[in-house]
Amino acid sequence: MHIVELKNVTKEFNGVTVLEDINLYIRENEFLTLLGPSGCGKTTTLRIIGGFEEPTKGTVLFEGKDITEVPPYERQINTVFQKYALFPHLDVYDNIAFGLKIKKIPKDEISKRVKEMLRLVNLQGFENRTIDSLSGGQQQRIAIARALVNEPKVLLLDEPLGALDLKLRKDMQIELKNMQKRVGITFIYVTHDQEEALTMSDTIVVMDKGRIQQIGTPVDIYNEPKNAFVAEFIGESNIIDGIMHEDFLVEFSGKNFKCVDKGFSKGEDIEVVIRPEDIEIVSVENGSLNGVVDSVTFKGVHYEMIVKSSDFDWMIHSTIMKPVGTEIGMTVSPENIHIMKKV
Ligand code: ADP
Ligand code: MG
Repeated sequence: MHIVELKNVTKEFNGVTVLEDINLYIRENEFLTLLGPSGCGKTTTLRIIGGFEEPTKGTVLFEGKDITEVPPYERQINTVFQKYALFPHLDVYDNIAFGLKIKKIPKDEISKRVKEMLRLVNLQGFENRTIDSLSGGQQQRIAIARALVNEPKVLLLDEPLGALDLKLRKDMQIELKNMQKRVGITFIYVTHDQEEALTMSDTIVVMDKGRIQQIGTPVDIYNEPKNAFVAEFIGESNIIDGIMHEDFLVEFSGKNFKCVDKGFSKGEDIEVVIRPEDIEIVSVENGSLNGVVDSVTFKGVHYEMIVKSSDFDWMIHSTIMKPVGTEIGMTVSPENIHIMKKV
């Protein structure tokens, strides 16, 4: 069942198109992430789903019903904004209880649900704390509790971890993901951080310049990028021109390689994507490609080496370090040679 669906959604601001023909569906209980560089239209897409923005063209469906013109407060969708937007003059309890009080829910029920939410976000006993006595991470959790207490069917989160430092962000990524599975609510999450998207999502929607570039699971997006934009945005890649000779046989760097891709026309110009960690260093005699190490950078878990071959500079990530000037052989197994249509 699709809980939310966008059909041919286009958005213009003052005649400038910022979203173009967005088609997207989101399943119940899914953790879906909109990923892309700043300005690509992530927030605008989220605001359209939340009802804060109307599309110029196209429709928004919720459980199959057209809600394009339904105001935000009548949608079963809640939002956690980039800035948490907590009420600074209210304590934690009143911040979380706010929406329930407006709905005139009985006091006992409110108290029970606020407690439940505090347990969910691991902040039991924080009822009477003031907002400015909380750390960034704690404020973030209160913002999530405040959104979830209304029992929305869908929660929209716009770069909610952006303001946190790296360590806390990593902890919160795991915590948020676990929380989502526990409460069984659909999350639509926005980030420009590819690692965050890969860690948390069931489905990633990669966007660039107002268009969807690719939709898939983290593994799909990482292993089978559809175009050079996706390949370069998600992790690092070697992208080299090639020719498809037949199914499972590709030529690049003047040599033929076995690959696992098929369905391209004979002689078709394509691009080959190889991840830096998928190139294995071997002896010169055993290499299907040869080159000379041009630079070495220590990156903590691996070394990053640039290896110059006659027609291409290869980036390699390896735990084995070869000094600058060494001639080495390189091999790549067929399943790590990814073929993309040339655009
Ligand atoms: P992202 O969240 O991916 O960084 P946004 O959705 O915020 O991108 O913005 C996409 C584009 O739309 C940007 O070029 C931005 O300047 C423009 N934009 C967003 N909101 C408005 C607005 N209210 N008026 C005019 N332009 C806007
Ligand atoms: Mg944004």
